[in-house]
Amino acid sequence: MMIRAAVVVSGADGYLRAMNEITPIAHPAAQPEGRQRKPDWIRVKAPMGAVFNETKGLMRRLGLNTVCEEAACPNIGECWTKKHATVMILGDTCTRACAFCNVKTGMPRAVDVLEPQHTADAAAELGLEHIVITSVDRDDLPDGGASQFVKVIEALRRTTPSTTIEILTPDFRNKAQAAIESIVTARPDVYNHNLETVPRLYPTIRPGARYYASLRLLESVKRHDPSIFTKSGVMLGLGEERLEVHQVMDDMRSADIDFLTMGQYLQPTPRHAKVQDFVTPKAFDAYAAIARAKGFLLVASSPLTRSSYHAGDDFARLRAAREAKLAR
Ligand code: SF4
Repeated sequence: MMIRAAVVVSGADGYLRAMNEITPIAHPAAQPEGRQRKPDWIRVKAPMGAVFNETKGLMRRLGLNTVCEEAACPNIGECWTKKHATVMILGDTCTRACAFCNVKTGMPRAVDVLEPQHTADAAAELGLEHIVITSVDRDDLPDGGASQFVKVIEALRRTTPSTTIEILTPDFRNKAQAAIESIVTARPDVYNHNLETVPRLYPTIRPGARYYASLRLLESVKRHDPSIFTKSGVMLGLGEERLEVHQVMDDMRSADIDFLTMGQYLQPTPRHAKVQDFVTPKAFDAYAAIARAKGFLLVASSPLTRSSYHAGDDFARLRAAREAKLAR
């Protein structure tokens, strides 16, 4: 079950109160087999039930991968019983080896030409109003996989035109400008790319990526088409300092990013980066208050927040927030 502590903080006084409430606590105790004990507020629904199995069966039948399974997402029980699955295109093997990510690393197989239509068929069968598409990193491909994103968007527009489309892309290292131009021309509704963590931790947590390149990618999307919502996320609990998180927020605002997501990092296996802190729900709320004060159109911040968690509802909120801002 999702745990959200509702703390409403507004105005200058609220800002200061929020600053004081950000106290990452609960340093995780190691367990004998190397696993780290999770605090009580990390409670999730067990993955089971008829709709869950139906969603899983559909993905297998169409030969699609999902980040929900590959990343061992804690929300899979809740999301899949609502038929919300995030399709991971371009295969199940990534060319990078980030310290936080459970997706396997290696030399990927050839791109599946049927994947765009299969993704669209899945969206139609699931009756999705909003779909999130992500991918592995494909540094081996000349375009980094951008053309497959375009084909998926086109197949979705043809097959299920009322479904709104959110893409969560890699950084397209050294190929970003061409990739952005082609993807933006296909006009997804939301363009998400996660900064994941603070710049100081990139060498250990996200060694194949560059913080400012990721930031520039998002800025460039907005410059090419301001009507596309931009979104980015960070994981907390990797050893980041509070002021470093505030700096990331400022960097994101200077890149005109609309929507910030913040969630607790969870160690997928003992081989991955350790959790340094379990950030309390109250501290997540305090970060959210600060982010709102910095001007994001929308902020999602809780221990179980993930990029694609409640993405459909959040998209409706994003649209409403933009309309309200324009009406002012
Ligand atoms: S939060 Fe996203 S990745 Fe996790 S189960 Fe839900 S849709 Fe899948």
